[in-house]
Amino acid sequence: MTLSLKWIIRQSGKTQPRSMLVFSLLLIITVIISFIIAFPEETTAIVKKIKPDKPSQQLPSSPMPDPGKLDGLKAFEEMSKFLTVGPRPAGTEGAKSAAKYIAGRLKDFGIEPIIDEFSDQTPEGRKTFRNVLGELQGPKDSVIILLSHYDTKSGISADFNGANDSGSSTGLLLELARLLKQTKPSGATILFAFLDGEECLKEYSPADGLHGSRRLARTLVQNARAQKVIAVILMDMIGDANLNVGIPRNSSRQLTSILFDSAREENVRLKFSMNNNYVLDDHVPFLQAGMPSIDIIDFDYGSESGRNDYWHTTKDTIDKITADSLQTVGRVVIRMLNRISNMNPGSMSDK
Ligand SMILES: [Zn+2]
Repeated sequence: MTLSLKWIIRQSGKTQPRSMLVFSLLLIITVIISFIIAFPEETTAIVKKIKPDKPSQQLPSSPMPDPGKLDGLKAFEEMSKFLTVGPRPAGTEGAKSAAKYIAGRLKDFGIEPIIDEFSDQTPEGRKTFRNVLGELQGPKDSVIILLSHYDTKSGISADFNGANDSGSSTGLLLELARLLKQTKPSGATILFAFLDGEECLKEYSPADGLHGSRRLARTLVQNARAQKVIAVILMDMIGDANLNVGIPRNSSRQLTSILFDSAREENVRLKFSMNNNYVLDDHVPFLQAGMPSIDIIDFDYGSESGRNDYWHTTKDTIDKITADSLQTVGRVVIRMLNRISNMNPGSMSDK
């Protein structure tokens, strides 16, 4: 820089008046540049004084509540109160009361409930079903769907009220709704869906079982919302004291991997594993419609490991359920939400 300055000064004697102006301008610019190079910090300080720092507009790293705030005892209490509604096979007065009860709880939490009533063909003729929906609007129009069915299997006993299947996940989903409402979502919109008619009357078929999930998946496709869905997270039979969640093979791989990472972070990784079977459950209609979905299910619910002898029997009672298991699953789900709620729809797709 010094050399070039000298070169300009030496040349200056031979310049004409117009060239003098150009030369002066060049000299001024050169002096300024030299100053910036010689005193970079002072120059930056001056620039900063002129243009103060803008406040950071970064998205918070944790858009969801602290997972530690999910209290298993509260979820257990929600489940216990819900179970007092009694048996709730789809199409019965019990199921209607259960839908009203869930809608009332959502309202208590400050979430406007929608009861989506529809009729569908079953092996016993047309029946009326009701999905109960609640939404927490986030700043983005992307959606994460949290699911549980709330109906009980029919034909087990007159007073069968399914503590684990489907009381546990209904209680936990209600508690998640209450807690998430307190923390305004800063990413995706959260849709809570309490589904009717999961249980089949005879054998699963397009006219038997999964009525609520088929209805919701179809509606999302029809109103072009399916393509905005980041993930569908289904919880089913998650209250067993001996919690042993086995993720069915027909769950989205990326979501499964996020679940395992979240479980590791929560120090409960050993309670979650892969189940090598395909499970027909409420996540299937969403998968079939192209929405990334996962089924968080503990399908090992019995007197000893591998027997599953409490499932769909009069032994599915509240004494088999613990607050600790509800808490474990609830906290892992919140960690999953934290990881995915600012993702773009389609980013969880396995294709
Ligand atoms: Zn069942």
